[in-house]
Amino acid sequence: MKTIIDTLIFKPLPISWPSDLSGLVFENWLVLKKVKSNKYHQSVYLCRCTCGKEKEVIGTSLRTGKSKCCGHNRLDKMQNGNNRNNS
Ligand SMILES: [Zn+2]
Repeated sequence: MKTIIDTLIFKPLPISWPSDLSGLVFENWLVLKKVKSNKYHQSVYLCRCTCGKEKEVIGTSLRTGKSKCCGHNRLDKMQNGNNRNNS
């Protein structure tokens, strides 16, 4: 068991990812399908947030955790002002 845990610690990210991330879940995103590649040759995926909003997200942002949701958390924060409700 210890060996498995150590492996996870030293390899937090998979070395290789599938070329198509469709069907995978990254935080709040469910990857629906690959739609295109952008001008930087990065794969762009149509993703659906847990709040129901669909948006195109770059695959790299998904894999690195840079994009975790459509931004509804940020909007909530703005609308609620300084109401901090961390759980
Ligand atoms: Zn959302």
